[in-house]
Amino acid sequence: MKAALKLDYYRGQTGEFIKVRPERCTGCGRCALFCARGVWVREGEIYRPRNLARCAECGACWNVCAADAVDFGEPRGGTGVRFLYG
Ligand code: SF4
Ligand code: SF4
Repeated sequence: MKAALKLDYYRGQTGEFIKVRPERCTGCGRCALFCARGVWVREGEIYRPRNLARCAECGACWNVCAADAVDFGEPRGGTGVRFLYG
C-alpha cells in the first residue's frame, strides 16, 4: 500500500536551527529572494533569519547561498513544517 504524505504545521514555536555565519555573508540577498516565507531580513551589510516561526524548512536559503553562510541545522521543537510518511 502506498504511504500517505501528511504535513503537520507547528506555529508559534521558535528555535535557532537556521543561523547566518556573519563572516561569510556577502549581503547578496539570495536567501531573502528565494525564501517564500519572509524569514530573512537585511541588517546592515548582511542578512539574518529573523522570522523563524514562519520557516517551512524547505532548505532553499541553504541551497542558494553561494558563500556557505547559512548554517542549517535540525529544527528543535518542531518549527515550521514536517513531512510525515506512513
Ligand atoms: S544568500 Fe548567503 S551570502 Fe547571500 S545574503 Fe543570504 S546568507 Fe548572505
Ligand atoms: S528553509 Fe525555506 S522557509 Fe526556511 S528560511 Fe530557508 S528558504 Fe525560508
